[in-house]
Formats: sequence, structure tokens, C-alpha cells
Amino acid sequence: MWKYLILNALWFSILFLVHFVGSTKDRRIVFISIFALAAYLAARTPIDPFAWMYYVLFSFLVFYGAGQFREWAFAGATILEDEIDMASREYGHARHLLSEKSLEAEILEKRAAEISGLYDKVKEMSRSLDAIEVFLIFGEALAEYFEFQTMKLVSFDEESLGMIPTDEVYELSSKDFLGLFDRKYLLKNREKARGTLFPGDTKIFNHIFKTQRPVETEDLHDIFQAQLMQNQNLVAYPMSVHKKIFGIVMLAGLRSENKRLLRILIERFVSEMERVRLYERVETLAITDGLTGVYVRRHLLDRLTGELDRSRRFGFKLSFLMIDIDFFKRFNDSYGHLVGDAVLKQVAEAIKSSVREVDLVGRYGGEEFGVLLIETDENLAFLVAERIRRTIEEKAFKAYDEKLKVTVSIGCSTYSYYEVLDATMIVETADSALYQAKRQGRNRVCLYNLPKAPP
Ligand code: GH3
Ligand code: MG
Ligand code: MG
Repeated sequence: MWKYLILNALWFSILFLVHFVGSTKDRRIVFISIFALAAYLAARTPIDPFAWMYYVLFSFLVFYGAGQFREWAFAGATILEDEIDMASREYGHARHLLSEKSLEAEILEKRAAEISGLYDKVKEMSRSLDAIEVFLIFGEALAEYFEFQTMKLVSFDEESLGMIPTDEVYELSSKDFLGLFDRKYLLKNREKARGTLFPGDTKIFNHIFKTQRPVETEDLHDIFQAQLMQNQNLVAYPMSVHKKIFGIVMLAGLRSENKRLLRILIERFVSEMERVRLYERVETLAITDGLTGVYVRRHLLDRLTGELDRSRRFGFKLSFLMIDIDFFKRFNDSYGHLVGDAVLKQVAEAIKSSVREVDLVGRYGGEEFGVLLIETDENLAFLVAERIRRTIEEKAFKAYDEKLKVTVSIGCSTYSYYEVLDATMIVETADSALYQAKRQGRNRVCLYNLPKAPP
């Protein structure tokens, strides 16, 4: 009897006391556990179902009553407790979110670092004035941030209506950019970056010239129809100035998760190449004569000064030819200025075709041309001058249905490193040799201080 009394008292006390345990959640757990335990014990003990009901009912009553009592006794504390409980739950949730966010932030940070590296490359491209250098920087960026197999840069001859690629094809593979890639070395040895064209390339170029738009992988099927391509993933972008395509960049074997970023980079590259092209164009315009296509006088003199310095340092001899068309006034007077202009143009061409690539031809005055012969002594200079004179003498000039004969007089001066070197001096002495040639009857070459016999 006492035993049951104590057990009952213990049971209801536990139910009552549970209300003062920790948070709402803890309480619930403890309550459910002990109730489950009690139910288990009760199930094992044969007990009158009415007594069972009485226990369950009374237990709930005690539990409910205890709750009410607790609320009455600790009203403020309970609310606070619940709030703490809620706050701690929110805190847990927030912490979870935070860890998720920090992971996101880490990924974002990594991407930002990548993009900032890419941005540095783009900035570097925008500082260069050399097309091949821009191409190499572009390759470095591609190799670092994207996957590709080969990149090709093809230039087109604008004069001959495009479509015909010049022999300037540059090609690099992503492997070239690994490890010991040396941009400066490649820029000094550009032939090492030269590549070749395949028949398939020409089809792609034709498509670009026809549509004036880039070729993407999706277009390949249309372009090649039944033919199969080795590198299915390919893009080719045209570069143009004033709607004239001057080059195409082609990337094969592309694999990139971030297509948008890749496209931005390619388009950046294309626009940097167009900027370099415009720069080259402006520079060329500024230093070449519009009518004849040879250098203007100022540029010729600038180069002469530079070359004099160089010949002084290396001990080379350097020669300068002053060429003047004989009786040019007559062409103008008899046939008009247009014919005169045409003659000037053809004389310039004849001079250019008679000298080496390294020699510099410029229009010195109205119908006077200057030729700078690099690393050339007086004997060789005389031979070159004679070749020019003869080429022009033998050439049949054609201008507006007029067939003309033209001759030139040439004065030549040569300097070596130990003599006083000054650009004006070399021009003036060549000019005085020219004057001599004119006086001796024209259509001849005179060396400074050493007049030659008429041909
Ligand atoms: P020479 O040099 O043999 O003594 O006779 P010349 O008739 O060539 O002599 P001069 O130097 O007096 O004449 C040069 C002429 O070249 C004068 C000018 O009308 C003409 N000339 C100069 N620049 C141009 C040009 O850009 N176009 C044309 N059509 N004629 C020019
Ligand atoms: Mg003349
Ligand atoms: Mg003259």
C-alpha cells in the first residue's frame, strides 16, 4: 500500500517537476520519454483498465495544472525562455545560412580573382600597339582561363578585295602557353609562331566574308554540309576597320563552362586588334606620301638621322641618293598635271622596285626623291643608282593613253663612321652631286666629289 502511494506521489511529482525543466522543447522531450516509460511499465503490469484510464486522465490533469501553475508563477520568465528558445533556433538557422553564404562568398571571391586576372590581361592588350603582341596576350588569357586546342590569326590583303589571305598566318596551341612560354622571345622570333592554312579554313573565311559575321560552332554544319570537321568546337571572328575585314581569329577545340566570359574576351581581343590596325593606318598615313606611297620628307630625314647613329655605332657606311626627274616641267606643260602625277607615281614605283626592302625611299620635294641605302658604300651605291637610272630610262611610261619616256638625274653621297655625321650634310652633298649631274647633261649618276663619265 505504501509502496503504491510513494510510487503515485513520485509519478505526479515528476509530471509536475517536468514543467520546470529547461526550454519548452526539453520539457516536451522529457515528458514524452517518461510518459512512454510509464506506458511501457503499465503495459507490463496487469492493471484494471479503469485504473489505467484514471491514471492517464489524472496524469494529464496534473500535467496541465502544473503548466498553468508554472505560467502563473513564472509568466515573464516563460515568455523570455520561449523567446530565447526561438532565438536560439533562429540563430542555428542563421548560422547554417551563414556557412552556406560563406561558401558562396568563397566561390564568388575565387571567380572575382579569376576575372580580375582576366581584366589585367585585357588591360595589357589595350596598352599594346603591336598586333602580334596583342594576339599573344590573348592566348595567355585563353590558356589560363579557358580550354582550347589551337588559335589562328590570319590577315587579309585589303587592297585585293579581301578574301585572299596574306602569307601571314600565326598559329599557337594551348600547349605553347604552358610552362616556359616566353612572350618576348616569340615577339623577337615571330616566324616561330607562324602557321598554315587548311582547305577547311578557306571555307570558313568565305562564309565570314559573305555574311560579315562571326562563325560559331552551330554554323559549321551549314558551311561544311556533309564534310566532317576534326574540331567540332570552333569559333572564327572577323576583324574589320570601316567594314573592311583585315583579319580573322579562329579558335578550335574550345571547351568552356563560361561561354559568356569567353565571348567577352574574344570580342575584347577583336576590338583591340581593330584599334592597333587603326593606329598602324594613322601612322602609315602620317609618314607616307599620298600620291606616290613612299615616305614623306620628314620621315625620311628622321630615319636618316637614326640610321646615321646606327652606322656610327656599328661602323657601316651609308649612302644617300637624291633623284630628280629631268625636264619634268615639260610633262606638266604638254600633257597636264594629271599626266605629271601619273609619271611621278610610276617613277616612285620604279625606284622602289630597284632597291632592297631595307632601303628607304621618300619623296623629298615636288619631283625629287631621296633614297637611303643602308650599309652601302660608294661603289655599291653607284651600282644601285645606275640600276635606278636605267630602269627608268628603259621603262615605257603610260599615262592616260600617253606613252612617255622619262629620265632621271641622280646625286649620291656616302659617309662612313669616322666622318662628321649629320643628316643635313649628307642630303646637301647628295644634292650638290645631283646639281653636277644636271649640269653634265642629265640622265646620269654623279657621286659627290667624284663625277662619273656620261653613260
Ligand atoms: P630639271 O629638273 O631637269 O632641271 O627640269 P625640271 O623641269 O624637272 O625642273 P624644275 O624642278 O624646275 O620643275 C619641277 C616641276 O615639277 C615644277 C612643278 O610644276 C612640277 N611638280 C612638282 N610637284 C608636282 C606634283 O606633285 N605633280 C605634278 N604634276 N607636278 C609637280
Ligand atoms: Mg626636275
Ligand atoms: Mg626639281
